[in-house]
Amino acid sequence: MTNEQKYRKQEIKDLAESIALEYFPEKLIDPEVIADASGITYSYGHYLEAFDGLIQHRAGRFHIFLNLDRNPDAKSPRMRYTFGHETGHYFIDEHRNALISGRVREHPSFNPPDTRNVAEAEAEYFSSCLLLPEKKYRAFCYKRPLSGALLEEIAIKFQVSLTAVCYKYLEISLFPMALVMSQNGSLKWHQTTPDFKYPWFPKWNTPLPPNTAAAEYFRNGRTYKTEEIVFADDWFTDLRRVKDEQFWEKCIYLPSNKVLSILWKKEKQVYWTFDFTNQKDFQLRMDSRGSRSISVKVRPKF
Ligand SMILES: [Zn+2]
Repeated sequence: MTNEQKYRKQEIKDLAESIALEYFPEKLIDPEVIADASGITYSYGHYLEAFDGLIQHRAGRFHIFLNLDRNPDAKSPRMRYTFGHETGHYFIDEHRNALISGRVREHPSFNPPDTRNVAEAEAEYFSSCLLLPEKKYRAFCYKRPLSGALLEEIAIKFQVSLTAVCYKYLEISLFPMALVMSQNGSLKWHQTTPDFKYPWFPKWNTPLPPNTAAAEYFRNGRTYKTEEIVFADDWFTDLRRVKDEQFWEKCIYLPSNKVLSILWKKEKQVYWTFDFTNQKDFQLRMDSRGSRSISVKVRPKF
């Protein structure tokens, strides 16, 4: 990303977050309230597959159309995100001016958006900052370690999709982690926080390593509700340094046969210590075939 692009991104973020915090210092961020306060009218209707959302300018007035055919629940996280996206086309000066001038008659938007289109990518980013302002997000996560349950709580608290929560977690880099997108059994892309020290992912567009939780889904349809323990050699190709380390993998199962895996390092296990000179702590057994095993009597001392 060039410096100019970084600056532009920051500008959009500042704009969206200032609107969110001004209107909703405490409450859930509601794009309808923002539209009402800004004189933007809106309607939910049936437009088949024409778009998810669309903003139109006519004679000095802005109207947002939201499509119930592609998204039947007006209060769903996805609809809120689309609504946030359309307000972005109003609040970002260049987008609004293009609409007013008639150079662009209207902005139809789809979910997922076509992010090769700069205006679409900008409106999408605006929506993510509007609905998940960093200050509120950080406050909610304060002193709470990364876990699947935390990500799900954030999604409920802010009424956004789990995917949006994960992208934001990565963006603001709250804890070392990686996101891996896979589709039809292949790794499509991955991205990590700068402090995630494990760069040895397989190449993009190659088959997923077979022992990952995501690969299990593509192989036999198995889904996990919570995060699973995976080993370094399940995911990474260079094992010289990380062979014995363990990670959590939380999978989000998405349309179009995609899986988003969130990976983070599992904290070291606390091992019990035993006094092996004390025979009461363990027994050495020998079975009828002569193999030996040790059974340990756990007697934790606090
Ligand atoms: Zn758009």
